[in-house]
Amino acid sequence: MKILVINCGSSSLKYQLIDMANEMALAKGLVERIGIEGSILTQKVEGRDKYVVKETMNDHNDAIRIVLDALVDKENGVIKNMEEISAVGHRVVHGGEKYSKSVIIDDEVMKELEECAKLAPLHNPPNIIGINACKKLMPNTPMVVVFDTAFHQTMPEKAYIYPLPYELYTEHKIRKYGFHGTSHKYVSNVAAEMIGKDIKDLKIITCHLGNGGSVTAVKNGESIDTTMGFTPLEGIAMGTRSGNIDPAIVTFLIKELNYSVEEANNLLNKKSGVLGISGVSSDFRDIEEAASNGNKRAELALDVFHYRVKQAIGSYAAVMGGVDCIVFTAGLGENAPETREAICNGLEFLGVNVDKEKNNVRGKATLVSAADSKVKVFVIPTDEELMIARDTKELISK
Ligand code: ADP
Repeated sequence: MKILVINCGSSSLKYQLIDMANEMALAKGLVERIGIEGSILTQKVEGRDKYVVKETMNDHNDAIRIVLDALVDKENGVIKNMEEISAVGHRVVHGGEKYSKSVIIDDEVMKELEECAKLAPLHNPPNIIGINACKKLMPNTPMVVVFDTAFHQTMPEKAYIYPLPYELYTEHKIRKYGFHGTSHKYVSNVAAEMIGKDIKDLKIITCHLGNGGSVTAVKNGESIDTTMGFTPLEGIAMGTRSGNIDPAIVTFLIKELNYSVEEANNLLNKKSGVLGISGVSSDFRDIEEAASNGNKRAELALDVFHYRVKQAIGSYAAVMGGVDCIVFTAGLGENAPETREAICNGLEFLGVNVDKEKNNVRGKATLVSAADSKVKVFVIPTDEELMIARDTKELISK
């Protein structure tokens, strides 16, 4: 069985065609600049040169048509025809309170997705456009949606209710939802396998640290709290997002500094985080380089970032009544030994002891804690696409 996984952004689209017989990607691709001059598709197949298609793509319909063409291309493709694709799995950011699991797409689900789009105006609309474009071109292929929020639907009320007037929750659905759920679920399950214990007997803290980042407390296999909230803006400091700040800063920006609502929103999402503090970049590689060249603001940005991730780990150890294992994943979590070391430094009191040598690893599932470390620390590359493909296979096989 071959499953196409689609992750649609507003002007980009990532895809993978996964062969479920061995769970390997037959092809991975990225389409950029959809609806913008210079649209381009880049497809990678193991052991072959990159296949690049530069063709005008006015919208997502064009993009998906070109993806399908690339997959069946005589020379550069990996399948003979579209009928070889058994199903499509779509990533959707927000599933609201309605969805705690992935679902097969039908008209009812499409209506619910539109409803959820109010909660994620930046993310859900392009996801929906992608689904509609796919349905048009592959009307008889079953499709599944996998939500970023679903894994966190197990959070208890005390974790997801904000200390605000309760009607904001009942009438407007303002609560914590949490994101990156597919990733937190995947890496916590791999960690349990690597430890050789049932995930139901473990307290795991998963740190998804990429451009966006979140930390999750996974107790007995369920998310019981996570740092992102009503939107992906809450939580730890990120590449360009502020994460937690005093909410009064927002009203101060608007009332005293004459920011428009749009400007304030843009500042918090696009100009803050480690970019805002350092003034250098949102990419941690650039910031690390600047810091090592003596740039004090870059150093401070890293300090703030490490401090806030450490705070999250401490608070989740407290709410779970302990921690058996900490997992680092995503761009930074997988590839930056110094970051992992700085975050874990000082957590010895919890039983965390990182082995400097083992920790010198990039992008490979590895135990990086010392043999005598009470808390096991892992690097585990995330694989959201594989999770989406697995859920899709399970649902369409029912
Ligand atoms: P997202 O999916 O949220 O866009 P990723 O998970 O791809 O982000 O992570 C991207 C980030 O990972 C980059 O901004 C960069 O800061 C960081 N990163 C990637 N490789 C390294 C590395 N070798 N050292 C330090 N940081 C890295």
